[in-house]
Amino acid sequence: MKRDSLLIRNIHTLATMDADDRVLHGGFLYVEGGEICQTGSGQRSLPKAQRQIDGSHAVAIPGLVNTHHHLYQTLTRACPAAADAGLFDWLRALYPIWARLDEESVHAAALVGMAELMLSVCTTTADHHYVFPRGQDNLIDVEIEAARRIGIRFHPTRGSMSVGASQGGLPPDSVVQPEEKILADCERLIGKYHDPAPGAMLRIGLAPCSPFSVSPQLMRDSADLARRRGVRLHTHLAETRDEEAYCLRRFGRRPLDLLEEAEWLNGGAWLAHGIFFNRGEVARLGRSGVGIAHCPTSNMRLGSGCAPVRALRRAGCPVGLGVDGSASNDSSHMLAEARQALLLQRLNNGAASCGVRDVLRMSTVEGARCLGRDDIGSLEPGQRADIALFDLRGLGYSGAGDALSALPLCAPAQVDTLVVDGRVVVEGGQLRTISVERTAARHRRLAARLFAAP
Ligand SMILES: [Zn+2]
Repeated sequence: MKRDSLLIRNIHTLATMDADDRVLHGGFLYVEGGEICQTGSGQRSLPKAQRQIDGSHAVAIPGLVNTHHHLYQTLTRACPAAADAGLFDWLRALYPIWARLDEESVHAAALVGMAELMLSVCTTTADHHYVFPRGQDNLIDVEIEAARRIGIRFHPTRGSMSVGASQGGLPPDSVVQPEEKILADCERLIGKYHDPAPGAMLRIGLAPCSPFSVSPQLMRDSADLARRRGVRLHTHLAETRDEEAYCLRRFGRRPLDLLEEAEWLNGGAWLAHGIFFNRGEVARLGRSGVGIAHCPTSNMRLGSGCAPVRALRRAGCPVGLGVDGSASNDSSHMLAEARQALLLQRLNNGAASCGVRDVLRMSTVEGARCLGRDDIGSLEPGQRADIALFDLRGLGYSGAGDALSALPLCAPAQVDTLVVDGRVVVEGGQLRTISVERTAARHRRLAARLFAAP
């Protein structure tokens, strides 16, 4: 019997999310060294494993992939000044509070956001951190420390803002950085942390914040650096009509034209939101295989709009889901986001426009493709063992005719068992890697300090 082997057997419903979208009943998953080695159903003899889990009351799916977040924003949920604002006013209300972030608060914020994500079925998350107050140069380093401690697969992106209000940008000057310093820190983080190997638990990406907070030159330099170092690119794009008007007024270009001029459409990029694209732009995005992080709750919360998800997917874009930052959601519940995506598309385009399977594929395989990964997002031999099990005996699933459809159609549940890279990190609905009570108490104290500061 191999050390670190795991067998999940007799699984009530097992959604593989493989190319044939197979669903097995009474199936099993056998894991060795963090990799899925065997799966199937109907076998008489199963492999022997060091650890066994009975799946007879469970539906198993691949761990969900969150493609867009700002973890630090868990500190500023439901901020009164931003509770009822659209994007630009919402940002103006929050920037001065975020200007007081430090390492301790960002570490606590990351742990809380990651804990919420894991308990709501997420095994891989991206993060986009772009606020670096003066003297706070290691905020991504502390997020990475948090990810390692809690045991989530992590794709932090080094965000940036370089054009402050005095130069015609939206953020106050106190939170923007010189472009040479930004690029040097991107190089540092890639050199120190980026792991290009299959199965990696940590990969760095580069992420200038938005067209209204960085210069076209920084967009271009970031793309050059990403290509040179083999990392992915991420930014916010086409989120609001205000952004479109800003780009036309300041640069005489639409947001996607700016991106193309900065050489972002040559592969390796994924964009948050992607709401305001015209038909020709959707086709261009599809041809270049750009990924879209669809963030339905945030888009509804800020009244931004509804992304053309079906058209983007038909054009060839992988469309993943993102909870977005917790100041505009205001939660990190990944399964709830899948439900919101389903409901929003149906509200706008009819019930046939987005099926249960569509939204599950977006949350898993397509999210993984946004992050440039083909080793996660499905449950089949050769994939990393990122597995979520829900207990079908819960009140909210009672009477469900199809266990898989129940996941996005019933009220979003918490996960029962979560496995990341072969390691059981949630068991009986409880995180095993950190104390949720202590983490939340520290986070509440630091959030209160952030709001109370002069
Ligand atoms: Zn965002």
